[in-house]
Amino acid sequence: MPHRQPSAQYETERLDALRKLELLDTPPSEAFDRITRMAAQLFKLPVAAVSLTDADRQWFKARVGVEHTSIPRELAPCANVADSCRMLVVPDLQADACYRDSNLARTGVRFYAGAPLMTRDGYCLGAMCVLGQEPRDITEAERAGLMDLAAMVMAQIELQHAIGRIEPSSGMPNRSQFIEDMSDLANERPRGEVRLAAMVNLATPEQISDAMRAMGTAYLDEVVEEAVRMLRAALGPGRKLYHVAPTQFVFLAEPGADVQRFCDWLGSWLDLRADAMTARFVTTPTIGVAPFRVGQSDTLEVLRDMHSAAHDALDGSHRVRVFSAEQNAVFLRRFYLVNEFGAALESADQLRLVFQPKIELSTGRCLGAEALLRWNHPVLGEVSPGEFFPLIEQTSLARATTRWVLAQALQQLAAWRDAGLTLQMAVNVSAVNLTETDFCAHVAGQLRRHGLPPEALALEITESALMKNRALAMKTLENLSAAGVHLAIDDFGTGYSSLAYLQSVPARVVKIDQSFVRDLDTDRHKRALVSTVIKLSHDLGRRVVAEGVETAAVATLLLAEGCDQAQGYLYARPMAPEDFERWICAKWTLPRERKAVPPPVLACA
Ligand code: C2E
Ligand code: MG
Ligand code: MG
Repeated sequence: MPHRQPSAQYETERLDALRKLELLDTPPSEAFDRITRMAAQLFKLPVAAVSLTDADRQWFKARVGVEHTSIPRELAPCANVADSCRMLVVPDLQADACYRDSNLARTGVRFYAGAPLMTRDGYCLGAMCVLGQEPRDITEAERAGLMDLAAMVMAQIELQHAIGRIEPSSGMPNRSQFIEDMSDLANERPRGEVRLAAMVNLATPEQISDAMRAMGTAYLDEVVEEAVRMLRAALGPGRKLYHVAPTQFVFLAEPGADVQRFCDWLGSWLDLRADAMTARFVTTPTIGVAPFRVGQSDTLEVLRDMHSAAHDALDGSHRVRVFSAEQNAVFLRRFYLVNEFGAALESADQLRLVFQPKIELSTGRCLGAEALLRWNHPVLGEVSPGEFFPLIEQTSLARATTRWVLAQALQQLAAWRDAGLTLQMAVNVSAVNLTETDFCAHVAGQLRRHGLPPEALALEITESALMKNRALAMKTLENLSAAGVHLAIDDFGTGYSSLAYLQSVPARVVKIDQSFVRDLDTDRHKRALVSTVIKLSHDLGRRVVAEGVETAAVATLLLAEGCDQAQGYLYARPMAPEDFERWICAKWTLPRERKAVPPPVLACA
C-alpha cells in the first residue's frame, strides 16, 4: 500500500476522496456496526469505533460504548493515523507526551489502538479503533486482527460505493460514475479545455418496447451485449465506456479530437456494426455528440445535449448528429409551448377566437365565418396557431382545445343569429378529435345547448386527419354528416389529395389550399390545377371554397373557373367579434346601395 506523506496537497486529496464516498453524516448501518462490535470483542474492550477524519473532526460511522457521534480532530489519535497512514498504538494516553492533554485522556481513556482505513488509491480515511480505560499492550495477533477488521470496513465502504455506480445488467460504470468522472476530469485536464462526449443510442423507445413484447427482455440483453463488445473493441483498452440507460452508452473522445473526424469515425463504426450484427432485432441506432468544457459545463446538461442530438439524428439522413444550440432552442420552445398551453386553456384571458368571413363569389354575400383560435401568452405575446396547433394536436390537449373552440364559436354564432345574422360557423377539427368515440354526441349536445340547427355548423378537417385510424375517423364523419352537420375538407392539395378519397368522405365542401390560390393569375400551372380540382369536385357534388384570396385578379379568375366561395385578406382578415359585426354591417349596406348586389341572407341588427 503506498504511503503518502501528509502534505497540504495530500490532505486536500484525502478529504476529496473521503467526501466522494458520501459517508459523512449518514445514518448508522448494521454492516459497519457488526465489524465494530467484533473489534470490541477481539480486544475485550468496551469502546470501539469506525472513525473518519474530516477537516476538523473525527466522525464515527459506527461506534460501541461512545455516546457522541464526533470529537474534535485536534489531538485525536485517529487523526494521527489518517496523517501517517499507519497503525497507531498508545498503551497509556496519560503517560504519553502527545496525548496527555487530549480530550480522550481527560475523559479517562488510557489505551488506544487504531488501524488505518486505506482506500485503493492510498488515502487514509481514518481509523478502525479500540479504546480502553486501563493501560495495556497489544499482541501481534490483536494487531493483525485489527488490521483485518479495518480492511473489512474498507471492503464494505467500496462495495457500498460501487453499488450506486455500476450498472448491474452489464457490470459497466453507470451514469453516476460518468457524472463523478466528469467532475474529476477537471483535476486531470486543463480547465476550459473543449472535449467531445458521445452517446450511442441503440434503439428508439418504440423499438425497445416492440422487442420486449415480441421477444422478451433476454433478446434485448443480447443486443446490448453485442453492442458493448463492439464498442469496447472500437474504443480499445483504457477508454472508459459508461452504460447510462438500458440501451445508451457514453464515452469521451480523445483530447484534441476533431469534431468532423470523430463523427466520421462514429459513422463508420455504425456501418461496421450494422454489417457485423448477429442479433435479428431491427433497431435504428443513432449517436449524439456534444462538445463541452472541462470543469465548466454542467454534466447533466452534457448528457441532455447528447441525448437531444441522438434523438434529432433519428429525423435526418445522418445517424451521427452534433448537438446544435439552435435546434435545441427550437425544441425547448416547443416543449415550453406545449406545457404552457394547458394553463392557457384554464386561463380566462389567454385564448380568444377571431372570425374570417366566407364570401359567395357570384354575389359577394357573406355566407359564414371560420373561427380561428388566437393565443396571447403572458410572456411570449401572440403565438401563431400555425406554430402551436401541430404541437398540441399530438397531445391529449387536442380534445379540450377543440371543445373550448366549439363552445366559444357556437356561443358567438347563437348570439349573432339572435341578432339576425343567419351565418354558418366553421370550426377546425384536429385529427384526434375524429377518433374520440363521443365526439359526434358532444357536437350534437353543444348545438342543442345553443339552440342551433346542425347545418349552422361546418367542421373543417384536413386530409391528414383521415390517415390515422381511418375506419374510426370515417365512422365519426358519417355520424356527423347523418346528424346534419356540414363537413369541409381543409387545405385540399397539401396532403394525400386522392379523388377516390374525396369521394369516400361525406364532405359537402372542398377548400383549396392557399398555396394553390396565391399567384393564380400569373401561374398557368396553378390555374390548370385549380380548374381541374373545381371541375372534379363539382362532378362529385362538392362545393369549392378558395382559401387565401388576396387580390381582385385572383377572385375574378376563381369566379371564371366556377369556384363557389372565397376566403382571404381581399375581403377581410380574421377579426374580433365586434370588428366582424362592424364589417358585415358595412358590407351589407354599402354594396346594396352602390352596386345593386343581391340582398344578403341576413339582416344586420
Ligand atoms: P386554416 O384552417 O386553413 O385557416 C386558414 C389560415 O389562413 C388562417 O391562419 C388564416 O388567418 C389564414 N388566411 C386567411 N386568409 C388569408 C390570406 O388571404 N392570406 C394569407 N396569407 N393567409 C390567410 P391562422 O389563423 O394562422 O391558422 C392557421 C391554421 O391553424 C389553420 O389553417 C388551422 O389549420 C389551424 N387552426 C387555427 N385555429 C384552429 C382551431 O380552432 N382548431 C384547429 N384544429 N386548428 C386551428
Ligand atoms: Mg380551416
Ligand atoms: Mg386551410
